[in-house]
Amino acid sequence: MAMQEQIRHLRDQLTIRIYGDPCLRIPGEEVKVFDKNLESLCWAMLGIMDRAGGVGLAAQQVGLKSRICIIDTSCQWDQQTLAELDSKNLLCVNKGDLPFPLFLINAKVVNQSDELQELSEGCLSGPGIYANVRRYQWVEVSYQDCQGFFHQIRADGLLGQCLQHEIDHNNGIFFTDPERLSPADREKVQPLLDELANQQPV
Ligand SMILES: [Zn+2]
Repeated sequence: MAMQEQIRHLRDQLTIRIYGDPCLRIPGEEVKVFDKNLESLCWAMLGIMDRAGGVGLAAQQVGLKSRICIIDTSCQWDQQTLAELDSKNLLCVNKGDLPFPLFLINAKVVNQSDELQELSEGCLSGPGIYANVRRYQWVEVSYQDCQGFFHQIRADGLLGQCLQHEIDHNNGIFFTDPERLSPADREKVQPLLDELANQQPV
C-alpha cells in the first residue's frame, strides 16, 4: 500500500478512546522497529488530532500499546513567547526552525525543575473536563524520531506541559489521576469522570 493510502486508512480506522477505556491504562511498550509503518502511524495520529482540535495525542488514546506520542503546539505560539523561550534557551531548537509536528518515540523525562506549578489542562480523551494539574515548570525529554535517531529537548510553557501530559499517557496515567490533582480538584472532576466511564461499552 502506498504511504498516503496507508496514512488515510489508519486515520479513518483509529478512533479516540475516552476515559474509562482500558487502553488508556496500559503502559506503552518500547518501540524497536523504525520503519515506514511507524511514520505512517504518526502522520495518521496527526490527522486524527487535527480533526479533534488537540495539540497532543498519545498511542494509548487510539487504542495502541506503544510508546508513541505526537505534539503540535505551533499554532499556540506567538512570536514574543518564542523569543522569550529562546532567550532563556528553554526551547532547544535551531532559531526559527521549529520541530513541529513532533513525533516522539520512546519519550521519557530525564530531568526536571524542582518547582511545580498548577496549570489548567484538558484532554481529547476527557471531553468537557478541565482541571488544574501539577506539572514541573520545565522538563528535559529524550526521545527517538521515526528513523530511530535520539534527540533531547528542554521545554517549559505549553510545550513542557504537553510533553508531560503525553508521556503520562504513554505510562497509562490520566491527567486527572490523584497524583496529578489536589484532593479538592479531584473531587470536583470525579462526577464528570464517572459519567464518561459509565458511557463506555463494557
Ligand atoms: Zn490527553
